[in-house]
Amino acid sequence: MVMRYISTRGNAPAQTFTEILLGGLAPDGGLYLPETYPQFSANDLARMRGMNYRELAFEILSRYADDIPAGDLRAIIDKTYTPGVYCNTRPDENAADITPLHTLEPGLHLLCLSNGPTLAFKDMAMQLLGNLFEYALNRAGQDINILGATSGDTGSSAEYAMRGKRGIRVFMLSPHGKMSRFQTAQMFSLQDPNIFNIAIDGVFDDCQDIVKAVSNDHAYKAQYKIGAVNSINWGRVAAQIVYYFKGYFAATHSNDQQVNFSVPSGNFGNVCAGHIARMMGLPIKHLIVATNENDVLDEFFKTGVYRPRGAADTYHTSSPSMDISKASNFERFVADLSGRDGKKLRNWWSAVDQGGGLDVNQEGLFEKVADFGLLSGASNHAHRMETIRDTWEKYGVMIDTHTADGLKVALEYHEPGTPMLCLETALPAKFEDAIHEALGRAPLRPASMEGLERLPQRFDVMAADVEMVKRFVALHATS
Ligand SMILES: *Cc1c(COP(=O)(O)O)cnc(C)c1O
Repeated sequence: MVMRYISTRGNAPAQTFTEILLGGLAPDGGLYLPETYPQFSANDLARMRGMNYRELAFEILSRYADDIPAGDLRAIIDKTYTPGVYCNTRPDENAADITPLHTLEPGLHLLCLSNGPTLAFKDMAMQLLGNLFEYALNRAGQDINILGATSGDTGSSAEYAMRGKRGIRVFMLSPHGKMSRFQTAQMFSLQDPNIFNIAIDGVFDDCQDIVKAVSNDHAYKAQYKIGAVNSINWGRVAAQIVYYFKGYFAATHSNDQQVNFSVPSGNFGNVCAGHIARMMGLPIKHLIVATNENDVLDEFFKTGVYRPRGAADTYHTSSPSMDISKASNFERFVADLSGRDGKKLRNWWSAVDQGGGLDVNQEGLFEKVADFGLLSGASNHAHRMETIRDTWEKYGVMIDTHTADGLKVALEYHEPGTPMLCLETALPAKFEDAIHEALGRAPLRPASMEGLERLPQRFDVMAADVEMVKRFVALHATS
């Protein structure tokens, strides 16, 4: 039987994996979730314990992408998760692990997810998505023009996943002169003819608004086959489930042990994958949602009230990839919390979409949050600096600001006897200024990134003008 995907809001037809792969929101405005989560028994876990990353990925993803022939899916996974793609490991880590476990002290680990081409965990899912997109488009004889906005990590991860792919062009808007030198160089040095970097004279919100305006022009969107790779994409969430299993097996000796994960969070995509791994039967005791000063998720898990904030109330912090005040994947968790009650979700999100919030206390659901193992905490700039310094002095390990937020909150909940896995979501090389401030020295940088800023750069500068962007895309789109 083929896995069916249904909308969190319960008012959209069920679809298969490849049917939702290239799309975004469900037609009723909700997010897709599998009708049920595949269950892994103790026997399954015992069988999976010895698997390498690719075998594990196939074992898990074949349950979700079951309308792709098994041989094809295996080939896509095998070409994605190789030590050559995830090569930016620390010297003492084994690249063949794909997501090496770095033990800080017994029971306290970093799960290293940032060894891909852009040095952030987003490569774990995005590299797979690039290969899945290419496969699905070729099979259907279609092509796509991906339009996106980025403040740094997502855009470069998408470009490195889609570069050179047949049938795919990428148009990525970024705020001109506002990304770090490293991030700018990483994106703009790509010379692939299917990648277009558009530097907008404005801030990130201007870029985002242009993408929204283009997406709302349905005729244009259809004519130029405009697509997206944002964090609500189900394929991205599914791909992220795999490393929770990989990390679990690496940190434990037997399947009756439980572990905790701490997850630096913004859009709730990463920790949503952890939640699903737990629902599938992985023995996770607690999933710890770590935020920075933008603590809308911490507020929810402490009070049961979810109150998204606007751009004016979103702080710019030194862990910028978590500067998010409206967590786009959060709706998936709330759907499970409500027992997949589409009507409830429609009511709640119509309030959210009108600038309001939701309160699960009124529904008696807040007590249930604990059943899902979720805890939370918040960090701030001073905590990040202190955690980066402590980790460097105590363990000789350099971590980035986002991972520091996760580690800081992890230590608040760390309990002897239960291994704690802190997800490393980026390498410090991406955030040079913050590392200078914390350690008084430059971050370590993978050998493959030496001299990155000296490479020739290719980009177009444009005013924050929807019509100009539309004309540019029309001129360069696949046809
Ligand atoms: C995207 C990102 C996050 C947040 O992940 P979500 O899935 O949005 O919660 C955290 N850290 C880094 C470095 C990121 O790039």
